[in-house]
Amino acid sequence: MLKVRVLDHPYIQVVLTTLRDKNIRQIEFRKAMVRLGRAMGFEITRDLDLERVEVETPLGVKTGGVRFKDMDKVVIITVLRAGMPMTEGLIKIFYNARQGVVSARRVEEKGMRADKTFDVEITYVRLPKISSEDAVIIVDPMLATGSTIREVLKIVLSKSRPRKVFVVGAIATPLAIDRVREVVEEYNLDATIYTAAVDPTVNEKGYIVPGLGDAGDRAFGE
Ligand code: URA
Repeated sequence: MLKVRVLDHPYIQVVLTTLRDKNIRQIEFRKAMVRLGRAMGFEITRDLDLERVEVETPLGVKTGGVRFKDMDKVVIITVLRAGMPMTEGLIKIFYNARQGVVSARRVEEKGMRADKTFDVEITYVRLPKISSEDAVIIVDPMLATGSTIREVLKIVLSKSRPRKVFVVGAIATPLAIDRVREVVEEYNLDATIYTAAVDPTVNEKGYIVPGLGDAGDRAFGE
């Protein structure tokens, strides 16, 4: 089943507004993406299981508390290159995560098809071993037509069947969400999309509107 969580924490919405602003420069944009990843990671931990523990304080007194049950069973997969700054933020929260990368690119030269899909070119895949106990976080800031994330999901699922899949992006469209849902249902996954916003549509070139432009170009200066 696919859940969709739009993270409306004020801090996240402030950072998203910065990212949308065409007047911010490359380094500022990249740093804002890092902040967004960290803030979203913080919110995502609400969905992790906790277990009760007891600790003894320096005063020699025992007190109850909690810890994350599965913090060691997290794999972060970054869609290169646009996902890199968000991952930098997320890894601060998921501090024990193993990491993998998939280099994926929409073949924009061929244009978007009438059904709003793109060919996707995958040039590099490097994933750690993923067990059925792991939660996999896939980081792709812009879920526009869903073409790229579907291919990435299928690559991950061809090699593993994780316990949970979290897709983390800055902005998603309803179209991309529906296309992710198709894969999630086909593979019978427990999956959640976390996004800071759902924007209504894509333009004729497949860019999210209003969106924030090309996340990779803006973070890395083309
Ligand atoms: N990729 C981007 O970087 N931006 C979009 O709007 C769509 C896809």
